[in-house]
Amino acid sequence: MPIRIKSLHETDVSLDDMWRFSKKVSPPDENGCLLWAGNSAGGYGRFSVSGRGHVAHRVAYTFWIGTIPDGMFLDHVYDLGCRSKLCVNVLHLEPVTHSENELRKHAAIRARRALRVALTPPEPYAAP
Ligand SMILES: [Zn+2]
Repeated sequence: MPIRIKSLHETDVSLDDMWRFSKKVSPPDENGCLLWAGNSAGGYGRFSVSGRGHVAHRVAYTFWIGTIPDGMFLDHVYDLGCRSKLCVNVLHLEPVTHSENELRKHAAIRARRALRVALTPPEPYAAP
């Protein structure tokens, strides 16, 4: 039987928690991302609320926007300029289903790859 993880509710996160949280957030980068500078695991920021570890961007969303509906994933929306899983800017986050999250993840990977190819300078011409 799968273990049911208690989801974070907006009333679980206090102003004191967010004061601690704010000290671990970098100023906005050129994309408007607010990168998490605290502990991380698996590429995502980690933050403790009431002694329980949570994913940092989910804590930010829960506090500033509201409880994330059960079963929903928070997408770092590439089309909104988000370029990092460490981003905790709630304006870059959107709750989506698992399948939508997977579709978007693969679309973002393709977009990054295309951009990298477009920005790679051509090999310099070598005279024979
Ligand atoms: Zn972002």
